[in-house]
Amino acid sequence: MNSRTIEHQNTTIRIGFGYDIHRLVKGKPLYLGGVKIKFKKGMLAHSDGDVLLHAICDSLLGAAGLGDIGIHFPNSDKKFKNISSLILLEKTHNLIKKLGYKIENIDSMVIAEQPKISSYIENMKSKISKILKTKNISIKATTNEGVGNIGKGKAICAYAVCIIKNGKYD
Ligand code: ZN
Repeated sequence: MNSRTIEHQNTTIRIGFGYDIHRLVKGKPLYLGGVKIKFKKGMLAHSDGDVLLHAICDSLLGAAGLGDIGIHFPNSDKKFKNISSLILLEKTHNLIKKLGYKIENIDSMVIAEQPKISSYIENMKSKISKILKTKNISIKATTNEGVGNIGKGKAICAYAVCIIKNGKYD
């Protein structure tokens, strides 16, 4: 048992944390939480640049002790070019399932000055829930109050935390 593992009555509970940021540029579509968002700019990235899904993937990989998203889906690999991050999320889920873990819950936060994304959140949750087989997905959104590069609208970032535990889905 390492320091990140808590064992209690044969239940292993592990916490994970993830963060991601991408620059906003003209001429690219904007995807957040697997949903295409109407906006004049999109993410500069090798994949579709979905910061929310990337943060969630990183939290799940971290919780399972599997490193980070760059190890599993390197941006030097052509097969991940413009890939939907929903596919990366599914692959990540498969990796943690293989180790015998299931997701207990995920909480996340998107920080974007623009566009307003609150009206898209239910749709994001349903896309993510379908892949991760849990309804315990929380997505929150805020602005950066005009501060720094995110506040100036140059980038969007996301944070995610998750709890996974040993066990299988029903
Ligand atoms: Zn990313």
